[in-house]
Amino acid sequence: MADLSTPLGKVVGQPSASPLAKHRGLHTVGDLLDFVPRRYFEPGKLTDLSGLVEGEDVTVVARVDRVVTRPMRHRKGRMLNATITDGTHELNLTFFSAYGHEGRLVPGARGLFAGTVGRYHQTWQLTHPDYQIFDPEEEQEAVEQYTGNLIPIYLPAGKQMPSWKVRNVAQIVLASLGEIPDHVPPDVRERRGLVDLVSMYRLLHLPSTDKDVSRARYRRKYDEAFTVQTVLAQRRMAGEGLRTTPRVPRPGGLLEAFDARMPFELTAGQQEVSAEIAKDLACEHPMHRLLQGEVGSGKTVVALRAMLSVIDSGGQAALLAPTEVLASQHFRSITSMLGDLAEGGMLGGSEIGTQVTLLTGSQSTGIRRRSLLDAASGDAGIVVGTHALIQEHVQFFDLGLVVVDEQHRFGVEQRDALRGKGKQPPHVLVMTATPIPRTVAMTVFGDMETSTLSELPKGRSPIATHVVSNPRWFQRTWERVAEEVRAGHQTYVVCPRIGDSEVDGEPGATSGEWSDEDVEVAFAVDESAPPAIRELRSVLEMEAELRDNPALAGLRIAILHGRMAADDKDEVMRAFAAGTIDVLVATTVIEVGVDVANATVMVIMDADRFGISQLHQLRGRVGRGTSPGLCLLVTETESEMVQQRLLSVAATNDGFTLARLDLEQRREGDVLGARQSGGKSQLRLLRLLRDEDLILAAREDAFAIVGADPGLERHPALRNVIASALDDEQAAYLERG
Ligand code: ADP
Ligand code: MG
Repeated sequence: MADLSTPLGKVVGQPSASPLAKHRGLHTVGDLLDFVPRRYFEPGKLTDLSGLVEGEDVTVVARVDRVVTRPMRHRKGRMLNATITDGTHELNLTFFSAYGHEGRLVPGARGLFAGTVGRYHQTWQLTHPDYQIFDPEEEQEAVEQYTGNLIPIYLPAGKQMPSWKVRNVAQIVLASLGEIPDHVPPDVRERRGLVDLVSMYRLLHLPSTDKDVSRARYRRKYDEAFTVQTVLAQRRMAGEGLRTTPRVPRPGGLLEAFDARMPFELTAGQQEVSAEIAKDLACEHPMHRLLQGEVGSGKTVVALRAMLSVIDSGGQAALLAPTEVLASQHFRSITSMLGDLAEGGMLGGSEIGTQVTLLTGSQSTGIRRRSLLDAASGDAGIVVGTHALIQEHVQFFDLGLVVVDEQHRFGVEQRDALRGKGKQPPHVLVMTATPIPRTVAMTVFGDMETSTLSELPKGRSPIATHVVSNPRWFQRTWERVAEEVRAGHQTYVVCPRIGDSEVDGEPGATSGEWSDEDVEVAFAVDESAPPAIRELRSVLEMEAELRDNPALAGLRIAILHGRMAADDKDEVMRAFAAGTIDVLVATTVIEVGVDVANATVMVIMDADRFGISQLHQLRGRVGRGTSPGLCLLVTETESEMVQQRLLSVAATNDGFTLARLDLEQRREGDVLGARQSGGKSQLRLLRLLRDEDLILAAREDAFAIVGADPGLERHPALRNVIASALDDEQAAYLERG
């Protein structure tokens, strides 16, 4: 009898096993059983083609109706157009080379077609779809064999191993399967109405009815959520077992002095969150808290107050930002908020003051050495830097708190590295301005406590957003910018590319640190958008174009992007902050946290190339002062779907609504970040928005089990599943380097 770890070849023979190993990485019985069919068909039936949606990935069973080939106009070779049908509705297939397709795509042939639905003139089409034509005999056999059953459709494993052969392999494997331990305890299965593991595999691969499929998929999704939540529960328990120094502000200390001179009242939300953090910091085990709040909701002040209370108790704090631009800006704004409180130990400084130090990769050796010394000696109460701070051998005298800004670029591995930084594990506060829907927070940050700042400080100005998609209005956009500048304000112009001679999208050598450039590369282009036909707008081109634009004559225009030298970037940001630059043409480097109150307009070129949350983040850069903000989303897209997406960004300023929309439209892996999307994702069927109830249930179950049995001594099957899930995760992480 086989179990999950039995090599596939032993059960089904090498000739069947090797294509599965080679093309799909399936080596064991367990691998095969976890290879979930993509969908199921009723034998003999064609897929209804009436409900196609642009941009959707589809797999359909259809019949080839007619085929035409014709020579290409400007190139050698012929292109092929085939029309497939469900008997009523049609779908057009386009191949730019007929070669290899002509013999297979013939009228009357039936098969499986997979691709992304597009629209060309008035017809639906798939460009270069994958397809598989059914062998009529084989199909007949399949139909007979399957009578009364559904046909599972798998991703084929090469030519020798089409979907129906994978299905036969699954059948043999299931017939030879012995008892396997179920990692979900029986009482949980009963409470949640879950089928047992072996039944799940049978129903997944050999279902008779839709109901079978949904029972199997439900159990499967539960498993995915349950595994993740068990890992998180264990992490949480491990965190609670750690010991560290409690940090309590000193009466008459820095925090009091700062509060006394703060130019505004904290909002009710800020007070509440500050109290939560103060309570955590006073504990003996390290804080591990996520602070989310819209752009401009005042997270930095909250973090600064936490840092000051740690300094008051004799410790140091580090503030990590994802880019050098942001790190420098934090350094400047913290220094200015603290005023003479940041001049501790200096002539004329405050007696209770401390020092703030900036530490970045591109500083000159001398300055850097000085900063390192300040961190090691404890002279610097606050060390501001990029995420590289934790990778390098930076020594702290007594690191009590690490604040990480803009969490979504900061993975769980880095969070772990932090814990090893101090003599004792430091308290950790991570901040994110991307609102995170509850179940995502629970899944990705489920080992942390969370706080949310939901109101903006009073006196914020509204941001109006408009989509500019008609070329007739493009020039008007620049006139509008000029008007704003004449009224004394400043403008950002964001482009998706830099446009210098180097290849865009080619990240430089990285040491695990996010350089400004990586951020641009990784986040500038929204891959779910259809490929652009023309070149995207670049910073350099745009700058040249705007200089030549009569509407902007006499305006001071500058550029900012990730491949500029750090000093140059710094100088540009300073100048922009000081108001000596009117129009700043930049990449998404300015996306996170850049704060210039006098900037009122943001023009985003090729806005369709950016994701929803990213657009929301970007426009948060304007309307920070007393004048209303204006964001113009310029696009030349013809896709209705993409226009719709931009319109939805224009329609609301509610970050949570947009975050949900974003999640609905993107692949899950993009949202979850590197950890979950690496190699073998643990989340295959689970959808973080739709499966909220199931995630809540799995979380409750997992936390109860781990709470009563942290080492999973009484749950060996679960322990094994977790161990191998963590191995996969580790392997995926290492593969990415
Ligand atoms: P976030 O980091 O959450 O995007 P910041 O902390 O940068 O927001 O705050 C944005 C701006 O609002 C800053 O200029 C800050 O000084 C100001 N601010 C913060 N809290 C308040 C408050 N309670 N009242 C008025 N202004 C505030
Ligand atoms: Mg911020």
